[in-house]
Amino acid sequence: TGHDYDPNNIFAKILKGEIPCHRVYEDDDTLAFMDVMPQTPGHVLVVPKAPSRNLLDADAAVLSKVIPVVQKLARAVKDAFDADGITITQFNEAPAGQTVFHLHFHVIPRYENQPLKP
Ligand code: 5GP
Repeated sequence: TGHDYDPNNIFAKILKGEIPCHRVYEDDDTLAFMDVMPQTPGHVLVVPKAPSRNLLDADAAVLSKVIPVVQKLARAVKDAFDADGITITQFNEAPAGQTVFHLHFHVIPRYENQPLKP
């Protein structure tokens, strides 16, 4: 269909340990690591280990594990990076801005007087 899970996507390789990452959190179901091109300092990605292409493709059971971790990382990143707020973003399919086709949530620290880059 062109919308199947590609097991060779870059986050699958990170999950397999084939590509290094700066990991900040891991449990049985979830990994969180620093984005290589942070939109602001402290930009973290949270990914379920289960192979979902994106939110449209994910089982509720997967979401029920990953969403509390997104909240945990949002709180931790806000503290660790002394942010004024946190933006969560999540893109589904290329026209919506998805570039890596393994479900992930962006946790982006926001600072007063520091808008996101376009
Ligand atoms: P999206 O698919 O939601 O548009 O964004 C994918 C995100 O993954 C981007 O913010 C990009 O900087 C990040 N990214 C792409 N390749 C790598 C990588 O190899 N390592 C890490 N840590 N982040 C990556």
